Amino acid sequence: MSKRIVIVGGGVGRTMLANQLVSKLYPEILRGEVSITLLSNSPHHYYKPAFMYVAFNQFFEEELKRPERSLLRPEITFEVEEVTDFDFSGQHLKTRSGKRMGYDFLVIATGCVPAPERIDGLKEAGDHFYQYQPARQLAQRLSTIKKGRIFITVSFPQTPNVPHQCGIAPVETTLMLDDFLRRRGVREHVEIIYTYPTVAQLLRNCLFLQRPTGDILPRVFEQKNIHYQRGFTLSRVDPEAKIAYSAEGDAQPFDILMATPPIRAVDAVLQSRVSQAPNDEGWLPTNHETLQVYGLENVYVIGDTVDLPVSKAGGACHNQAPVIANNIAAEIRLSAPCSVYDGRVQAVAQMGLNAGMPLWYDYAHDVLPTPPTRLGGLLRNGFNRGLYWAVARGML
Ligand SMILES: Cc1cc2nc3c(=O)[nH]c(=O)nc-3n(C[C@H](O)[C@H](O)[C@H](O)COP(=O)(O)OP(=O)(O)OC[C@H]3O[C@@H](n4cnc5c(N)ncnc54)[C@H](O)[C@@H]3O)c2cc1C
Repeated sequence: MSKRIVIVGGGVGRTMLANQLVSKLYPEILRGEVSITLLSNSPHHYYKPAFMYVAFNQFFEEELKRPERSLLRPEITFEVEEVTDFDFSGQHLKTRSGKRMGYDFLVIATGCVPAPERIDGLKEAGDHFYQYQPARQLAQRLSTIKKGRIFITVSFPQTPNVPHQCGIAPVETTLMLDDFLRRRGVREHVEIIYTYPTVAQLLRNCLFLQRPTGDILPRVFEQKNIHYQRGFTLSRVDPEAKIAYSAEGDAQPFDILMATPPIRAVDAVLQSRVSQAPNDEGWLPTNHETLQVYGLENVYVIGDTVDLPVSKAGGACHNQAPVIANNIAAEIRLSAPCSVYDGRVQAVAQMGLNAGMPLWYDYAHDVLPTPPTRLGGLLRNGFNRGLYWAVARGML
């Protein structure tokens, strides 16, 4: 009987993976021995990193999305269906429209969602750039502020050694903010304060989640008159008084609170009760090497839903997709997975509105920061405006 591979989620992780699986298993697909189905709750694919540019009026919605179908090889069946239940023991899924779908191999690629409501007052008083509409609202505020105080906070998951989404994004947006306000001619009247929590993955009292990058940040910020503070773990916000309180006992006023909010897995994953992550965050217990979900037969996970210690980033998906494609192909052909993920993540960080810094790291090595350059900025712009879609199609 034909082996059914079902991938759930419509983001970058699963799009790359589905296309790579077709290349890998083409002979079996042609013979009708393998089928690949993608289920997503949206017909669109969003280039999520562009949300941070939305906050600075550089991208609008129509520029950062494509129809998911247009990114997929024709051999893939694509259905717009929201998965509501995973029945792992029976190897099937249920969808909101009432469909029941069996699988032989399942890949969960449902990403994560911001959860500002998990900190008292943050949803009401804070801004963020991790979704389109909140980023538009932030753009409105950043485009009109003439003087005051922009206070930047970062919240980590409570699951030990799991980072927030896109580790470098708070630094990128702080530097973009500085440039943006300079362009607007209001920078000298607006104070920017970048803060970081006491516990950042394995580090304590740092400005970034990896030491080499954290160590250079004070110099970078001082050159731009950006203030910074370690040991600020956001615990609650008073929307009326516009004060952010920390678990360490500090209280800081703000005019704009630009936050990296708590995050969690999507409802269907939370409700599957497979995760034992604290605070009901829902990260799936992931084999660091094979990317299988511990305790489940024939189930893999990719992207932001993992509980791995690497950045929840497209640059992580890029390296995870070929490992999963190879492992599923090996399970079909050899009855056992054979590829190993080494924790590799790569990206080009946006360091201000024009400059970029290529970066890469893995389980064993931190990012070694290099001076941001305009060439790096061009590379990032090329990625934003075109290369990303080639990557999603599995071409790069
Ligand atoms: C502001 C911002 C900046 C970023 N910057 C960078 C960067 O510079 N570099 C980088 O590498 N990464 C960056 N990232 C991170 C990157 O975008 C994510 O890591 C990546 O999108 C994760 O891919 P994914 O496939 O796991 O999830 P997603 O891309 O989030 O896709 C999840 C998909 O699952 C679908 N879905 C959810 N629930 C269900 C369900 N129940 N049934 C069916 N479908 C469902 C959703 O509709 C969505 O299509 C950034 C992210 C943000 C928000």
